Amino acid sequence: MPENYFDHAAACPLMPEAFEAMKPFLTDRFGNPHSIHSFGTEPVKALEQAREQIARFINAPTTSIVFTASASESNNLALKGLARAREKEGRHIVISAIEHQSVLKSAHALERLGFEVTEVKVDEHGIVHPKELEKAIRPDTILVSVQHASNEIGTIQPLAELAQLSHQHTALIHSDGTAATGRIPVDVTRLGVDSYAFSAQSFYGPKGAAALYLKTGTRPVPLIEGGVQEKGYRAGTEDIPSIVGMGKAAEVTRSRLAEWSAKMGRLSKRLLTELPRKIDQIVLTGHPEQRLPGHVSLCVEFIEGEAMLLSLDDQGIAAASGSACTARTLKASHVLLAIGLLHAVAQSSLVLTMGKDTTDEDIDHFLAELPPIVDRLRAMSPLYAKFKKGEDPYEARERSFKGGH
Ligand code: PMP
Repeated sequence: MPENYFDHAAACPLMPEAFEAMKPFLTDRFGNPHSIHSFGTEPVKALEQAREQIARFINAPTTSIVFTASASESNNLALKGLARAREKEGRHIVISAIEHQSVLKSAHALERLGFEVTEVKVDEHGIVHPKELEKAIRPDTILVSVQHASNEIGTIQPLAELAQLSHQHTALIHSDGTAATGRIPVDVTRLGVDSYAFSAQSFYGPKGAAALYLKTGTRPVPLIEGGVQEKGYRAGTEDIPSIVGMGKAAEVTRSRLAEWSAKMGRLSKRLLTELPRKIDQIVLTGHPEQRLPGHVSLCVEFIEGEAMLLSLDDQGIAAASGSACTARTLKASHVLLAIGLLHAVAQSSLVLTMGKDTTDEDIDHFLAELPPIVDRLRAMSPLYAKFKKGEDPYEARERSFKGGH
């Protein structure tokens, strides 16, 4: 097992406090929270306590939290559910070009149902500019979806401004907060969004627990119909152990976030400063300042991201090359292409996400191991050979990619 874990955006370890809180609900407190008899008493209390903990975590009213099983599900419920709820008022939806696949594909599914979708461009740092959003909004726009922060390039969006603008045009705004929660404080009331998706594994809770915040009065058509659980927005018996773990993880994270973010921010700044001094021809991606603490994203030109990941893994370092949800597809990331990178550069991507327990020693180890890996891989790279000879390394390769995606 790698000893240095730099892939917290894909999954954080379960915090012990959450594990302890979950245990009784995996064993003797197994009752259904909706049962009238006493086996239901503890589970229903625990469910509502978790709802309060989660609401406090994002500064929302307790009644505004709907539990789901993943952030993907929350994004699907928000997009498909809100579009269907408002379809009589209009059938146009606006999303940013760098959304997670669960937002992109939900929007594409709506297109197949006759909705129209406009993708808003981002700038070279991945920012959605209010002016660009305004250009995309039409009189029949019913819903806007812009992520709070990017898991791939770390950029934090001016979400409050985008929300205000959407509302001026009577559109609802949904935000995918999966990458933001656990790294920066989230206040959905101040942000002014109508819905906000996030999952427990971003802040050391268990997998299988996630939530969708729905501002009072925001009523999506449910994806899963059946019983009255989650006020009818999501039928099916709630996963009480995971939800309890999520609630506890939110409570602990809320009380420690300032300290953890400061530390992660210092460590990511170290990497962002020291990496360009150790390796030439690297492109730091995402916004230089408006970015998540503990998030470092870059392209190491002339080599493949996957080759770096395998070599790093051999040295006990776990990193990523983009979103875990599209890893193994070997496709260039749509996020990196949207910020204007060439395919060949986008394929040399490396994403390092730190966590509350990452140390300076982890950073030292990474800084010692990456440069020799890059040297070795570049020694085998035809692109690097061309670059060294003063030729354009990308021309032919870019041509071969045209039309491939
Ligand atoms: N949105 C973002 C920004 C993510 O990073 C992820 C996880 N990679 C998701 C959504 C999906 O999360 P989940 O796996 O909980 O469905």
